[in-house]
Amino acid sequence: MTRKKIYVTSPELPPLDEFTPYLKDIWQSKILTNSGPLCIQLELELAKYLGVEHVSLVTNGTLALDLVIKALNIKGSVITSPFTFVATANALILNGIKPIYADINKKDGNINVDSIEALITPDTTAILGVHCYGNTCDTAKINKIANKYGLKVIYDAAHCFGVRTVDQSHLTNCDYSIISLHATKLFNTLEGGLIISKNAAYKKNVNELRNFCFVGEDIVSGVGTNAKIDEMRSALGLCQIKYVDQNISARRRVYLRYAAGLPACCKILITGNHPNYSYIPIVMPSNTLRERIYSRLKSADIYARRYFYPLVSSLTDTSQNPAVETPEAHDLAERILCLPIYPTLEDYDIDRIVSIFNDLI
Ligand SMILES: *Cc1c(COP(=O)(O)O)cnc(C)c1O
Repeated sequence: MTRKKIYVTSPELPPLDEFTPYLKDIWQSKILTNSGPLCIQLELELAKYLGVEHVSLVTNGTLALDLVIKALNIKGSVITSPFTFVATANALILNGIKPIYADINKKDGNINVDSIEALITPDTTAILGVHCYGNTCDTAKINKIANKYGLKVIYDAAHCFGVRTVDQSHLTNCDYSIISLHATKLFNTLEGGLIISKNAAYKKNVNELRNFCFVGEDIVSGVGTNAKIDEMRSALGLCQIKYVDQNISARRRVYLRYAAGLPACCKILITGNHPNYSYIPIVMPSNTLRERIYSRLKSADIYARRYFYPLVSSLTDTSQNPAVETPEAHDLAERILCLPIYPTLEDYDIDRIVSIFNDLI
C-alpha cells in the first residue's frame, strides 16, 4: 500500500450529481460563455454572500488584477508588499509598472502602513495592498495616505473569500479589490477570479475590459482583453457556494486542534474576528527550526509550504536587498510555514503533525 500523502490543501468539489443538471442545461441552451445566465446568476449570489454590491467574474485572479490596473490607467510605480504570491507583482510588471516594495508588519504579514509615505515619489500612482492569509490591511490609514497624495488603492484580496469585517470594508474601502477562485483557494471555480468595484461605473469599465471593450455589436470603447469566465465554471461556482460556510466551520475545527497542540513558541498568524481559516501560517522561532520541521514533515509525506518564501521582491527585482530594505518581510519569509488545512483533514493526521513539532522543539 502506498502511504497517504498530505498536501497543504485539498480542493473542494460539490457532489457530482448537483453539477450534472447544469451541464444538461448548458448542452440544451448552447450558451457557453460571454456573460451567460449562469455567470450573471453567480455574480448576484456572490455579491449577496460577500455583502458587497458590484461583483464581476473573470477567468482568474491574475487577470482580475490586470483588468483593475488597466481600468484605473495606472502607470509609473506602485507601492506594494513583497510578502505575497508572485502574481501580485507580475500583474504590475506586465503592465510596465515598477513595484516598490514596502516592509510589512510581523503581526499580520501585511504592508506596514507607516513605511508607505517615505517611498512615495512623483512616479507613484497607486498602493496595491495584499490581505495576506485573509488578515486585513488597515484600509482607513491607507486611504488617508492615498487621499493626501492622490493615489489609487487596490487590494489583492485573493485569500479573503468568506472573511468578514465591519461593512466588508477590506473589499470596498478602495477603488477595486480582487479575489482568486483558483482550485487551491477557499471557494473555487477550478480557475476563476472576481473583481469588486467601488461603484457601478467602475464595474462597467472592468466588464468592458474583460470582453475586448465591446459595447455593441460592432462598437468598441477601447483596447480590451479577454478575461471572461465560462458557463461551466459559473455552474460549478453555483454548486460550491452552498458549502462555503460549512467548509469554513470544518476548517475552524482543524485550526482549533492545531492551536491546542502546537508548542507556544509557534505562533499562528491569523488575525481578525471572522477569519476564513484558509491557511495555517506558523511563525517559527528560527529559520533552522523551520527548515528542520519542513524536512521532517516531508519525509513523513506531509507537504507543508513556505508561503511566502522566497520574497517576491527577490524574484522580481534582483537589485533589491530584502534583508536590508524590507527586514521584517525578509525575516518572516525565513520563518513562516503553512501547515495542511482542509475540511476532511483527520484529527489523527493533525495530531501526527503536532507531534512532529513537539518532538523537535
Ligand atoms: C492565488 C493568488 C493570486 C492569483 O490568483 P490566480 O487565480 O491563481 O490567478 C494572486 N494573489 C495572491 C495573493 C494569491 O494567493
